[in-house]
Amino acid sequence: MTAPPAPSIPLVDLIAQHRALERELSEAFARTLDSGQFVKGPQLEAFETELAEACAVPHAVGVGNGTDALELALRAAGIGPGHEVVTVANTFAATAEAIVAVGADPVFVDVGPDDQLIAVDRVEQAVNARTAAIVPVHLFGRPCDMPALRTICDRHGLALIADAAQAIGSNGSDGPVTAEADLSTLSFYPGKTLGALGDGGAVVTPHPALAEEVRRLADHGRRSKYVHEVVGRNSRLDAMQAALLSVKLAHLPEWVLRRRRIAQRYDRAFDDLPGVVAWRHEDSGSAVHLYVVEVEDRDRLRDDLARAGVHTGVHYPEPLHLQPAFRRWRRSALPHTEALARRIVSLPVYPEMGESEVERVIAAVTGAQGRRPPRRAR
Ligand SMILES: *Cc1c(COP(=O)(O)O)cnc(C)c1O
Repeated sequence: MTAPPAPSIPLVDLIAQHRALERELSEAFARTLDSGQFVKGPQLEAFETELAEACAVPHAVGVGNGTDALELALRAAGIGPGHEVVTVANTFAATAEAIVAVGADPVFVDVGPDDQLIAVDRVEQAVNARTAAIVPVHLFGRPCDMPALRTICDRHGLALIADAAQAIGSNGSDGPVTAEADLSTLSFYPGKTLGALGDGGAVVTPHPALAEEVRRLADHGRRSKYVHEVVGRNSRLDAMQAALLSVKLAHLPEWVLRRRRIAQRYDRAFDDLPGVVAWRHEDSGSAVHLYVVEVEDRDRLRDDLARAGVHTGVHYPEPLHLQPAFRRWRRSALPHTEALARRIVSLPVYPEMGESEVERVIAAVTGAQGRRPPRRAR
């Protein structure tokens, strides 16, 4: 008799996470239900306070989702028609959607060849009299070079608005990277490192006036109940999601540690594997929202891993400047962005992943790349 095949390994396992937190989540649900208050109120206020602390900023505003967070941050910073916003094309569509939604034009610049993140020298070249903001994306949780971007923003009077949807828990040069922009935006999409049980997002900022403006815009342009000072909208974080997120936020530090440990184990295993480029995670500050390697034959590796029961993803297969929706903002080829899109593959990483699953992924990758796994101790 042959043994039953081992269960396949997902990219993320939300069921395992929620099973571990079932009692705490149920209690938070019951508490919110009993409170009868589902929009605004104490659950939201408590979560915003905890989130601001985790992000090392004085202000956090819960909003409907990560895309709204970006749009509201841009509007709060005064970005609108006639403005250009410098960003990258190797990101989720939301980054550019938000820029277009406020009436500005996205200007896509290339990434560095080695780190996938916005190339500071390309940003410098893209700045002109219409430029109003820079929107770096801390892709996969890897922190962009915020001190260098800050220097450019200060020199030209630009807003620095970071898409930190993948970067909660990530550290920059001096603590949480979320403290290093004028506004940083977060997503609590379920698959994110801190995920709601539905949609959610937040804007975090060191500036009280910007926090107030985001709050006003997200709540029908009002500060008091019946006075609408500007034309706003409705984009709030539900009290129920806030209560559930408070439960999860308390576990974020241990989750980030576990994600980093898995990433470093992968790094060591893939270090000198032929045809694979693994960026080192030691001291990178990344909270490892995604673990991504570059490989020569990406599609073949994905097929091999699928056969071994290892799920993979590609973040993202088609850069935005080549997408039908955003092609009209393409100004030039982005060689590094385009080359990377053909080479990247995301491997499973989630805090509930056991050692045996990590070793199975390593064995599947090293096997597929035609070499035996390296010895554990080095
Ligand atoms: C998830 C994500 C968003 C959008 O967040 P939603 O909550 O899904 O609207 C924006 N930017 C990046 C880089 C993301 O990964």
